[in-house]
Amino acid sequence: MMRSDAAVLRNRMVEEQLVPRGIFDERVLDAFRKVPRHTFIPDKNLENAYGDFPLPVGEGQTISQPYMVALMTQYLDLKPGDMALEIGTGSGYQTSILAELAKEVYSVERFAVLAERAQMVLNDLGYTNIKIKVGDGTEGWEEFAPYDAIVVTAGAPSVPEPLVEQLAEGGRLVIPVGGGFSQTLTLVKKQEGKIVQEEICGCVFVPLVGRYGWKK
Ligand code: SAH
Repeated sequence: MMRSDAAVLRNRMVEEQLVPRGIFDERVLDAFRKVPRHTFIPDKNLENAYGDFPLPVGEGQTISQPYMVALMTQYLDLKPGDMALEIGTGSGYQTSILAELAKEVYSVERFAVLAERAQMVLNDLGYTNIKIKVGDGTEGWEEFAPYDAIVVTAGAPSVPEPLVEQLAEGGRLVIPVGGGFSQTLTLVKKQEGKIVQEEICGCVFVPLVGRYGWKK
């Protein structure tokens, strides 16, 4: 397959899956036109990689549907100088989208094999503004806090307190909250020290497992 084939599929993904559903932020759309999603998929199948659905990435985990990644990213409202935290590195696809839009990206993954594979793909793509660690992301990543934006890519029973604490003033946290089988994508903002919460839409994510998440 030639590189240009993937670029054609990416443009089609943006025009058919993202724009018609309300993704309007040009910086976000440009990141989706640029990042080679197929390199994050285990079998690297081009048609699947740019399809309108989630895909398995190993360890029973999934890479979210492109639209869901775009929607979460748009709500993060990233600026070029922002510090971002991601909980649930998975394939590393969302990590790379964040790295296109923020200054520095920190990402925590519970499975070492996934973290290592993501790190390799991201290194090959040449990103120098991403740090990944293996651990329980429900505790956040204290060392580099506060963060202007935090995204959780697994479903939580409630908003983990450490993540709210590690959010900067004016910061945005996007997280699926609800039951084990379906959740509500939720936006949490810290405004003048107050926490403001907004429901975005229904969604389905794999469970966030950890101290402030599901206990297995
Ligand atoms: N953003 C990813 C989606 C991965 S699915 C992508 O674009 O591919 C969610 C990921 O969250 C899984 O890899 C899962 O292992 C991870 N996860 C679940 N609970 C976690 C926790 N407490 N800390 C860190 N990662 C966690």
